Amino acid sequence: MIKITLPDGSVREFDCPFVSGLEIAQSIIEGLAREVIAADVNGEIWDRARPIAHDSKVRLLTWKDDEGKAAFWHSSAHLLAYALQELYPEVKFGTGPAIERGFYYDVDFGDYKFTETDFAKVEAKMLELARQKHTNIRKEIAKNEAIDFFTIKNDPYKLELLEGLSDGTITFYETGSYTDLCAGPHIPDTSPIKAVKLISVAGAYWRANENNKMLTRVYGISFPKKSELDDYLLALEEAKKRDHRKLGRELDLFYFNESVGMGLPLWAPKGAALRENLIQFLRRVQTRAGYQHVSTPHIGKKELYITSGHYAKYGKDSFQPIHTPEENEEFFLKPMNCPHHCEIYNAKPHSYRELPIKYAEFGTVYRYEQSGELHGLTRVRGFTQDDAHIYCRPDQLKAEFLKVVDLVNFVYSKLGFSEFQTQISLRDPANKQKYLGTDEMWNMAESAIVEATQERRMKTTTKEGEAAFYGPKLDFMVRDAIGRKWQIGTIQVDYMMPENFDLKYTGNDNETHRPVMIHRALFGSMERFIALLIESTGGNFPTWLAPEPVRILPISDKYNYYAYEVMRTIMEETDLMVAIDEREEKISRKIRDAEVQKVPFMLIVGEQEMIKRSVSVRKHGAGDLGDMHLSDFIDIYRREMKLDLSSIHA
Ligand SMILES: [Zn+2]
Ligand SMILES: [Zn+2]
Repeated sequence: MIKITLPDGSVREFDCPFVSGLEIAQSIIEGLAREVIAADVNGEIWDRARPIAHDSKVRLLTWKDDEGKAAFWHSSAHLLAYALQELYPEVKFGTGPAIERGFYYDVDFGDYKFTETDFAKVEAKMLELARQKHTNIRKEIAKNEAIDFFTIKNDPYKLELLEGLSDGTITFYETGSYTDLCAGPHIPDTSPIKAVKLISVAGAYWRANENNKMLTRVYGISFPKKSELDDYLLALEEAKKRDHRKLGRELDLFYFNESVGMGLPLWAPKGAALRENLIQFLRRVQTRAGYQHVSTPHIGKKELYITSGHYAKYGKDSFQPIHTPEENEEFFLKPMNCPHHCEIYNAKPHSYRELPIKYAEFGTVYRYEQSGELHGLTRVRGFTQDDAHIYCRPDQLKAEFLKVVDLVNFVYSKLGFSEFQTQISLRDPANKQKYLGTDEMWNMAESAIVEATQERRMKTTTKEGEAAFYGPKLDFMVRDAIGRKWQIGTIQVDYMMPENFDLKYTGNDNETHRPVMIHRALFGSMERFIALLIESTGGNFPTWLAPEPVRILPISDKYNYYAYEVMRTIMEETDLMVAIDEREEKISRKIRDAEVQKVPFMLIVGEQEMIKRSVSVRKHGAGDLGDMHLSDFIDIYRREMKLDLSSIHA
């Protein structure tokens, strides 16, 4: 008798020595059995036909579940390899996992240059094989047999992978005449794969090591229905229009230049204005929330980062030090602002009554990224963090953590990011030597985070082993236009750096105590945040954030004088920026250009407006608002620029 506990807590009993995910589904309802792809058995994902021999907790997985999609896409990676083996018999295979959207396989094509022109042939072969309904057969296999197999097949990459595996854990999956070294899970056979599309090819070093051979990474995606593929490709086309690199050029926001250096963005006037609007917004919010703004240099002595622990952790992967010519001191480009803030804290004594102390800085930091990793504004080598450090008493930790959580929610909602995800990153309990600090510190910090998220009823995922080396953290993630997930904000508890910098305060017992430190950034990197903001809004920023909120369009140069009068009046009354399009272009052209550049308000002025002291208002995305007196427009403009910050308190 096997007892199976389902996610709703119900228990099903099976009077047989084994039961599979498929049989469990059949016992519930036949329709479900057709949809089940795999099963989560006590937290491990299994093939749906794999026999379960003991009482277990089981969750049945379909295409709708992330793990179901992963099994489907991983099986599609095998199908891709099978098709490539049929078409190019000399190829050798690296690894082929499912990814967030689809799958890839790393392939050694030998001397053959595989390109996009090969895609159609491979896709057709994949569909032909899929229709033949090959079963994905799982086989447990002894290590020496596995080695023999891939030695005969002459597949050096699989042999290298086998070196790291121990006997008793090795499984093969066979699909027709294709055999892969693989832990699974897989869908039962190839027939549910009804639509495939190869997306791109790229170079990828074997095992991500640049000393190894460069393999060809073939990316693809597949679906159980052709219509789902069509929808996906349409969404991909739409998303490409919102790519921040494309919109960044079109809206004249930022540029990259080889002679300045890769991954070092140059902000044009409008991009700089957008950044400044975001900074001003956050500065106001933070001031209300009791933060004090500080400013620190772009470089710091090597010893500073030795004290903070960053050097030991990142020193060898970072930029090389800068040596002074006379004293031979060593400086590093600032990778983090925290050590500098700790030294500000340490500049004078503190009493328990002063805490929490919150130092905020829009601090530009520099981190080495491999050139292949750079991507628009989302991964750069120099970026500005909206960084802050909160120094508090241990008894204040949870309350302060909660305040930051509330601040994150406020700021993201004002900027229209409602779809963010949160992740708690804890220490890997099996690998404690990777982290600084005592068990006691870690337990306190981890429970503060878990309790705070529970108190705010936040839906979070928890990952062990992803904490920073100095403490656990709560990360905030959003997706870009094509659905890739990026980390933006973070809140991290740290008991270590206060130790390293010997931070102190005097308690009400007149004794010396250690404060706890919270590192936090809401935007994370201004650069990455702006990239995601561009992609989520498509460049249609709210008026209060827009780099050019108002543009005056004179119908001809006869009205330029009146246009300047309008500009001066608005600027004097509101302190806000206004531009004039003085080009000798037709008004229709001026309107079109302003629409393309997504200027929120266009004020058209001609004979009638000049006589009536009015403006004809056009709003981007909303069309013509009609003729109105200038003071009425100023009222509308003021309303759109106003932000309600009343819910933020220190
Ligand atoms: Zn596999
Ligand atoms: Zn920090």
